[in-house]
Amino acid sequence: MKYTVVLPAAGSGKRMKAERNKLLLELSGKPIFIYTLEVFDKDPHCEGMWLAVKEEERQLIEDYVKRFGIRKVKGYATGGAERQDSVRAGLELAGQSEIVLVHDAARPFISPVVISELVERASESGAAIAGVPVKDTIKKVREAVITETVDRAALWMIQTPQAFRYELLLEAAHLAQADGFLGTDEAMLVERMGHPVQIVESTYDNVKMTTPDDLIYGKAILASRLQEEQS
Ligand code: C5P
Repeated sequence: MKYTVVLPAAGSGKRMKAERNKLLLELSGKPIFIYTLEVFDKDPHCEGMWLAVKEEERQLIEDYVKRFGIRKVKGYATGGAERQDSVRAGLELAGQSEIVLVHDAARPFISPVVISELVERASESGAAIAGVPVKDTIKKVREAVITETVDRAALWMIQTPQAFRYELLLEAAHLAQADGFLGTDEAMLVERMGHPVQIVESTYDNVKMTTPDDLIYGKAILASRLQEEQS
């Protein structure tokens, strides 16, 4: 089943302690976001990518896209103050398609198998997102004292991609905007409409490059993948 993908890429480098957009930082000689785009570029079911970028970074990003031979970028939307604004701008620009994925440009290690499972589940049910079961014990804490140990069996850490029927996500995004509701992922916008969202088990290495130690982890993932390819 074919799909399109919106990639929010208009963040900053604040938590990465970088001067500029962390997506432009390089891992083994290639900007982080190029690894992400390459996954979708190689996927025969992906019909096109729409990036949400900061206006002042657009030229630089376009140049990288050309330099690394990425073929499926169809357009650039102007990102907003919040990630949710960037995704909405990307969705509006992308326009009608049956299934749309939203994927953080900052998650370069997404597995093609997970993408294909998400697309299939979203086409059946309308909404499916990637996540992994929580591995650690989770406790609620107030003023450095534990108030509750939460049942881990019911907890998942949520990632992107998040896949939806296009019309459903666009409606959810517009409703959230009209209500002044700010969610931390797309699923929250769909959940508040009462629509069920399925979860697809992803991989623990689908990390979001967020803080400086993620770059060390990212280099290790790349090295182990290279080793696998060579063996
Ligand atoms: O900041 P965080 O790492 O959670 O951002 C997740 C993704 O959303 C990144 O790819 C980032 O570039 C993007 N983003 C955006 N617009 C914003 C904030 C973040 O496109 N205003």
